[in-house]
Amino acid sequence: MKKRVFSGARPTGRQHIGNYLGAIQNYVKLQDEYDCVYCIVDIHALTTLEDTGRLQENTYEMMLDWLAAGLTPEKSILFVQSHVPEVMVLHTLLSMVTPLGWLLRVPTFKEKARMQPQNVNYGLVGYPVLMTADIVLYKADVVPVGEDQLPHLELAREIARRFNSLFGQTFPEPQSKLTTFPMVRGLNGVQKMGKSYDNYVELAATPEETRKLVMTAVTDPARQYRTDPGHPEVCNVYSLHQFFNPNRVAGIESECRAAAIGCVDCKKLLAEGINRELKELRDKRAAFAAKPKYVAEVLADGAKRAQAIAKVTLAEVEEKMGLIAPKR
Ligand code: SF4
Repeated sequence: MKKRVFSGARPTGRQHIGNYLGAIQNYVKLQDEYDCVYCIVDIHALTTLEDTGRLQENTYEMMLDWLAAGLTPEKSILFVQSHVPEVMVLHTLLSMVTPLGWLLRVPTFKEKARMQPQNVNYGLVGYPVLMTADIVLYKADVVPVGEDQLPHLELAREIARRFNSLFGQTFPEPQSKLTTFPMVRGLNGVQKMGKSYDNYVELAATPEETRKLVMTAVTDPARQYRTDPGHPEVCNVYSLHQFFNPNRVAGIESECRAAAIGCVDCKKLLAEGINRELKELRDKRAAFAAKPKYVAEVLADGAKRAQAIAKVTLAEVEEKMGLIAPKR
């Protein structure tokens, strides 16, 4: 029997090439090796109450990108967190076995509390418990994480362990599948590509939009004139060539160092590479977007399959905690 992977991602709307090269491509690969449960965690998005007016649209747009990139209901369970309300019940039950001190120590809680002092809500403190509920509700064996998320997973393991020690073996302790995500810098060449920095190229951008955006990319700051030799190792355009023009990257490196290629031409090549590599994905996305009924069916079917697992786990937890599990 295949091991089960769980991963959740916030509904950030249309995905960008940073999301694609980081998480999405990895999700697609894992489908062949594991029994995968992938969830758009819309309740988590409420902890910051950002953009709630666009939550539905963002969830739908994100699912379009997932499907277009190759996540498929034939291989994975794809669903929206709030469509399986059992997770909220489990969250409450797990909160009874989670010492408050564990949650107040979480660095991201402290950071969020600093960033939104006007809204340090209960959900923000309980966020790691909800995340644990997401994982253990499906009895996931493995969670793909980047190094920065390891402390969160460790907390999930601690909560699962505590529940098991109090009420008997129930949850597998989820293991991390450490994934080295490539650091994809944004077009400004400074921060990681991300929506909050407005430095990204959406997967769904048109070829023309892609060209325009790429032409704004910051390159080697030391290269003032066309005749100045460049330093590809500090240039973000060069790092993106490694993903989108892998066959040309060695040539671009030497041409850049010898000032045999200008940054304008180099960016044009990058835009061509991105447009070529994403053509199939973009065509598929347009086809899925033209079939909203199909996307709704994928989500409904995913929720049904996820809920079938969730109900069994929840009944087991309720019984072990001394409750009378209702008929579901
Ligand atoms: Fe960067 Fe290309 Fe310009 Fe070199 S030629 S600095 S790799 S954009």
